[in-house]
Amino acid sequence: MEFKSINPYNGEEVGTYTGLSDTALDAKLKLAKEAFTKWKKVPLEERAKLMSKAGEVLKENVEKYAKMITLEMGKPISESRGEVNKCAWVCEYYAENAQEFLKDEVIETDAQKSFVRHDPIGAVFAVMPWNFPFWQVFRFAAPTLTAGNVGLLKHAANVFGSAEMIEEVFTKAGFPEGVFQNLIIHHDKTDKIVKDDIVKAITLTGSGRAGSAVAEIAGRNLKKSLLELGGSNAFIVWEDADIDKVVKTAITARMMNCGQSCIAAKRFILLEGIYDEFVEKFTVSVKDLKDGDPLNEDTKIGPMARKDLADELNRQVNESVALGAELLHGGNQKECYHEPTVLGNVTPEMPAFKEETFGPLATMIKAKSIEHAFELSEQSDFGLGVTVCTEDIEKALSMAGEVSDGAYFVNELVKSDPRLPFGGTKNSGFGRELAKDGMMEFVNRKTVYVK
Ligand code: NAP
Repeated sequence: MEFKSINPYNGEEVGTYTGLSDTALDAKLKLAKEAFTKWKKVPLEERAKLMSKAGEVLKENVEKYAKMITLEMGKPISESRGEVNKCAWVCEYYAENAQEFLKDEVIETDAQKSFVRHDPIGAVFAVMPWNFPFWQVFRFAAPTLTAGNVGLLKHAANVFGSAEMIEEVFTKAGFPEGVFQNLIIHHDKTDKIVKDDIVKAITLTGSGRAGSAVAEIAGRNLKKSLLELGGSNAFIVWEDADIDKVVKTAITARMMNCGQSCIAAKRFILLEGIYDEFVEKFTVSVKDLKDGDPLNEDTKIGPMARKDLADELNRQVNESVALGAELLHGGNQKECYHEPTVLGNVTPEMPAFKEETFGPLATMIKAKSIEHAFELSEQSDFGLGVTVCTEDIEKALSMAGEVSDGAYFVNELVKSDPRLPFGGTKNSGFGRELAKDGMMEFVNRKTVYVK
């Protein structure tokens, strides 16, 4: 089977990748098993050094890796560089903190000695999406490999060039063969891989559809799964907020990565008193965004990653307009390109409110009061994160318990940071990545007791 990466900006082929035969896949699974038996015995200090080296390799090759990201999925080149550098940061973060996170946890009991130790579990199978083709992988790989596990990657079929380069990072850094393996396969091989004895857990970042399919297979095989799925984050603006400042944050929160981010602000919930001012200033800023070839330094909006994704966004725009949404700007689509679009007076029955909108579409929603804003925010099947913008920090903090999402940001867009746990609730998935939590997901917290 052959897979092709296509540049969404001009339709040109970026690369062709030959799928693994069953025999070749079996050999990779066997290699993972052999690699694990040796890798888990490598002292943590040594594993951390290699992870730090992986960070250096990323920094030394930023241009090469950033270019591949942009060619395969259309992200503006400046953002691709940012993504590669962030991967270097997560490698460095776990290299520096693994000793502390993995140390024995002494617990006083009536035993002579009792504690928890943290042992690696085996191979972790990662199914990853195209939208942050490097970051999503490093976010799992940095803690997982440093903890002594081995990794198997099934990347999204449109970014297999990035997947190959990620394997190259670990090879160049000096990781032993088999500790991180890229698998060029169709997702129908998931069942076979999850069943294999060496695979002890599955981590998936992607849509709810893929998440439930993979979690079902994991459950049937009694293997742990971690799911990072879609989102429809609310971005709530109170009447006392500094609108000029907030609009700048809001534009990045929605339009970064051409709107193709799980944690993008997708529903702008605005208090009535500032609705008009916010919408006007936001729309002016959207009109200023420069679109074009994502390889150009000043491009802010490139193509979407695939035509079917742009088609889907356009359907959501048109159906919402048919239900009464006001088209304030944009709305046009050509092939993979979707014009940055602003919809006003969006209400809960519209697709732009109730579905995840994965592209450059901002929806403006009016709220009668702060309480009403939180109610609207909660009217979602997703639960990744919420932003609240206000000058009244105390009040904002006192209301953090009102949201059921996995994150609550005040005056800042919801973003991931290696030092902070990241993950969702409801249909946005379960489990946490990053920080100490991310490392604890794939280790055996073993209780040791000496009478
Ligand atoms: P996707 O279609 O679900 O694909 C994600 C990965 O899952 C790909 O590797 C895909 O492989 C694989 N996959 C799809 N169907 C599968 C199945 N039935 N069994 C096993 N694997 C399967 O998602 P996407 O369109 O690439 O990514 C966009 C989605 O990811 C959005 O919903 C976004 O919100 C979410 N996301 C979430 C986070 C987070 O941290 N919560 C981060 C980024 C993205 P193929 O390419 O071969 O189909």
